[in-house]
Amino acid sequence: MLYIVATPIGNLEDITLRAISVLKSADFILAEDTRVTRVLLDKYNIGVSEALLLENPRSKASVVSYHQHSKFQKIEQIISWLKEGKTLAVVTDAGTPGINDPGNYLVMKALEAMPDLKIVPIPGPNAAITALSVSGFPSDKFIFLGFPPHKRGRRTFFQRINLLDDTIVFYESKYRILKAMKELQEFSLIGQRPVMVARELTKQFETIYRGTIDEVMLKLKRDNILGEFVIVIGPS
Ligand code: SAM
Repeated sequence: MLYIVATPIGNLEDITLRAISVLKSADFILAEDTRVTRVLLDKYNIGVSEALLLENPRSKASVVSYHQHSKFQKIEQIISWLKEGKTLAVVTDAGTPGINDPGNYLVMKALEAMPDLKIVPIPGPNAAITALSVSGFPSDKFIFLGFPPHKRGRRTFFQRINLLDDTIVFYESKYRILKAMKELQEFSLIGQRPVMVARELTKQFETIYRGTIDEVMLKLKRDNILGEFVIVIGPS
């Protein structure tokens, strides 16, 4: 059994009772960054560390790392655990595994090896949907664009936004948020379309910026723009 478990995007209380119980009962928790996941697990007294597992191989819910750079052997190991009938739970650093973080590839490989494998989603937080929920923009349909490419294709990403009339949601890192704002002004030509930038959702410095792209840009420049960001653009 393979569980895909959503975890908080900041506030550690945003975890479901079902997620806690699945994580407690899993034989292995596959974590993108074991140090990040450890903080969550410690809060809810779940699992043991990889080091403790070596001392006591029968400990429940050991935490092992699985990330985008994991070697083929790691995936083989995971698949062999599944074949032995072990229960595995996949978590990432934040939110729903597979949404712009590792997870999908493992599901694909596991299904290739075991087409009848039971894969169970444990729903929970997701940054894009959380931001969209407070945007006030039409959300009966919307377009999620993930992250803009860092280099090649970046300008095309922003030019394409100009052609999309629905509500648009995308992610950007703290290193490129101001650059992305400038590119929205310059290449997307969104003009008076309403924009919302959600910063540090569910965390201490949660801030929602609203206005035209020029207004939001001014507010972002004025503030100390650290943290994680979701950008939402309303329809024209
Ligand atoms: N799997 C995650 C999800 O379900 O939302 C997304 C992972 S992606 C690697 C990380 C990006 O999500 C960040 O760079 C940021 O754009 C967005 N993000 C994650 N947590 C956030 C938060 N608390 N506030 C705002 N944006 C966040």
